[in-house]
Amino acid sequence: MNGRTVHLFLVQGAPVKFIDIFRIIRAAAILFAWLLSATINATVSNAAALEKISIAYCIDCVPFHFQNKDGQPDGMIIDIWRRWSARTGTEIEFKAAPWTETLRLVGDGEVDAHAGLFYSDKRAVYLEYGADLTETETHFFHDKKLPPIRDIKGLAPYKVGVLDRDFVEGFLKEKLPYGTVVSFRSYEDIMKALVAGRLQVFAADTPTGITHLQRSELGFAYTYPVDKPLYRNKWLVASARGNTQLIKKIDAGMALVTSDERREISKKWTALGATEFVLSKTVIAWLVIALMVVVFAGILLWNYALQRRIKERTEALEAANEKLESLSYSDSLTQIANRRQFDDVLNKECQRAERNKSPLSIIVMDVDFFKRFNDNYGHAAGDECLKSVAMALCDCLARPTDLVARYGGEEFVCLLPETNGEGARKIAEQFLEAIRMLRIPHEHSAAADVVTISIGCLSVEHGRDLSPDRLVDEADRLMYQSKQGGRNRITVETRVAE
Ligand code: GH3
Ligand code: MG
Ligand code: MG
Repeated sequence: MNGRTVHLFLVQGAPVKFIDIFRIIRAAAILFAWLLSATINATVSNAAALEKISIAYCIDCVPFHFQNKDGQPDGMIIDIWRRWSARTGTEIEFKAAPWTETLRLVGDGEVDAHAGLFYSDKRAVYLEYGADLTETETHFFHDKKLPPIRDIKGLAPYKVGVLDRDFVEGFLKEKLPYGTVVSFRSYEDIMKALVAGRLQVFAADTPTGITHLQRSELGFAYTYPVDKPLYRNKWLVASARGNTQLIKKIDAGMALVTSDERREISKKWTALGATEFVLSKTVIAWLVIALMVVVFAGILLWNYALQRRIKERTEALEAANEKLESLSYSDSLTQIANRRQFDDVLNKECQRAERNKSPLSIIVMDVDFFKRFNDNYGHAAGDECLKSVAMALCDCLARPTDLVARYGGEEFVCLLPETNGEGARKIAEQFLEAIRMLRIPHEHSAAADVVTISIGCLSVEHGRDLSPDRLVDEADRLMYQSKQGGRNRITVETRVAE
């Protein structure tokens, strides 16, 4: 330390070592902490000194202090008092009474304090006031049937109901003609007079007035000039005149209820008030209507979504069926072999014929004037006709290797392995005859008065380099020759490979 001692100078100029500065600061901090804790202790002990306190509250000053359905004290100000009790450890004995009675109880010293009320010079004669608890506006309320009342002067022609000895009573009596302000013992009595039609105007603290109107189901029959309160006032703690010590102790405890807590309490009660307001009959009716609209819209949407899903599924199913159809070997209408099967078998038979140098015949058939048939007898009859044609063609075949297939539309093909031109011609003739013999009427056919077919018959003997596609094309070409030749006939060609 020696070499690096720092010298500072106090007012007198005496040098002090750096380390001493810390000692002084520490001592000052201890002194400050002691003073602070002493102050806090004093505040707390000031309030804690009370063991029990009795408080008068109003039975129906909703939502500030009132007696709830269970007969218990309730309200914004009661909640503040309960916090006060928790902070100070002082027990509270609440005493419910009609408004006027609460004033008498406190004035006469029958209870220690009043839960909360406004300041007035008249009351200050017998009351000692303390800290403020919360504040509120006061309004006059009037029946909507009356012409709009804009200010206090407008109240003059009416009787104005007020709570007996409420602050607003004195306030209005000063300003209105004698006899117009009528005092009631409780808000309940005011509401009864309104319901009975004996009274059409009253004045009260705004939330109190609104709550009582809602409870009496008069909420929508009454109105008040929202932006023109009669006044704004503070709810204060009060005790009998002279009880300054008690008021000090109460105030000290109230100082311990933080502004955050008060805000929270106030929020709770204004929120409750709002709920009560919203749940009046008309609002409920609107809510029900809105709910019904939402449910109806929901059902519509759900139905729409369902329809869409059904459509998607149907389409998917149709696509799957189509695919299945294409993969399958038989024609769904006539139940005979389809083009796919025919092509496969043709490929194999061509190879076999090439290998074995054996003959192979192919017959292509097309129903004559089938468009006219459909147009004349209808598509369903057309389908039935195609089924009959298919059956008749199949019935003509004897060998298991022979194959008749529906090639597409009203076109049929027949594959005759190991069959030469002569054999094929016989079969073709049988086909032609078999269809005629069905005797399906076809009055718009230019070929006959029954359904007929045109046939192309191609036979390849000692087959070599047989191309399945070419075979079909050539047989088709022969069939067209039959068409051109007048239909209902056969064109045959036999080719002998060299
Ligand atoms: P042509 O004598 O020249 O063959 O005349 P056509 O009317 O038979 O010929 P076209 O090719 O003009 O018409 C064929 C008709 O066959 C048209 C189509 O509606 C019908 N058709 C094709 N497939 C079916 C089917 O599965 N059922 C029904 N009912 N009709 C079909
Ligand atoms: Mg055709
Ligand atoms: Mg045809």
